[in-house]
Amino acid sequence: ESKRSTKVLQILELVASYYHNALENAPKVIDYLKSRGVSSKSVQNFMLGYSPSSEDLVSFLKKEGVLDAYEKTGNLIKLDEGVYRDLFAGRIIIPIRDEKGNCIAFGGRLLQEGHPKYINSPESEFFKKRSVVFGLHQAREYIKEMGFVVVVEGYFDVISMHQEGYKNTVAPLGTAFSQDHAKVLSKYTKNAVLLFDGDNAGKKAVKLATPYLLFQGVNVKVAYLPEGEDPDTMARKDKEGLRTLIQNAQDIFQILIEEIKEGKSSSLKDFLYYASFVKDKVYQHELIKLASSASGLPVSLLYEQMPKVQKVEE
Ligand code: ATP
Ligand code: MN
Ligand code: MN
Ligand code: MN
Repeated sequence: ESKRSTKVLQILELVASYYHNALENAPKVIDYLKSRGVSSKSVQNFMLGYSPSSEDLVSFLKKEGVLDAYEKTGNLIKLDEGVYRDLFAGRIIIPIRDEKGNCIAFGGRLLQEGHPKYINSPESEFFKKRSVVFGLHQAREYIKEMGFVVVVEGYFDVISMHQEGYKNTVAPLGTAFSQDHAKVLSKYTKNAVLLFDGDNAGKKAVKLATPYLLFQGVNVKVAYLPEGEDPDTMARKDKEGLRTLIQNAQDIFQILIEEIKEGKSSSLKDFLYYASFVKDKVYQHELIKLASSASGLPVSLLYEQMPKVQKVEE
């Protein structure tokens, strides 16, 4: 079984380099990446690629003698005898790697507008979307070195951030940030900066991700991007602004304390909600005392108002 796993991983790596090499004959993809400001260093670092066509991939796989084995990954669909469809045909390829650097899946983006803009490999024994953190293999040493992780939403956000020198940046795979993501990241650092898209979905994502991180003992800072921007667009339009945003990212509890002082009752509610996920009871008590002096309400009342039942599982 583990021999088989090694074999599948080898084939995925082989296909990743096939896609990567295919860039050489795909000037329109090179142009697309250039137009997005992706440097050739980033193309190498993330081993970006392109799938020219199903037929081209199939003839490569045949030549390598791994056609049947690759079909089992679910990335290649057998339509008929000798007829296959590469799920990623015509797309830019973003290899998805595990922490150790093994290619376990692919993400694929359309070159033009259309639906779906992105697809991912189907789930498999190697690839559990819920727990894979994109960019972690490239970022892990930097996360340790810098003492914090930056979490963004998308592939190109990660790529642009690394290119701009924020090499401690990672992203979930389009799915909501999960407890598994928080657990994986908490092995590397106890400090996270959330840098989600400047839209409503991004704000909601902060509310979803924060409890999981707090529950794993990870402190959460938040940087809010201007409306309509994501880290990738911001990195291109306003590098200085991006730097300031990250530098001035504020602890989620501090943000709320300021709002509580202004008399915003929904912020007090949010504060107590987040505080309920803090496992360290001493820290939790400090937080409640802060909220008490900001709101003028007694500590005992705030404890009463703090939600008790937690949906986050260990
Ligand atoms: P781009 O900059 O390439 O247009 P984005 O990363 O800004 O894309 P978002 O719409 O902000 O795109 O989505 C964030 C992330 O969610 C994507 O990077 C991708 O991982 C995932 N995603 C987006 N759309 C889809 C989709 N239709 N199916 C699966 N995953 C998706
Ligand atoms: Mn978005
Ligand atoms: Mn985006
Ligand atoms: Mn984007």
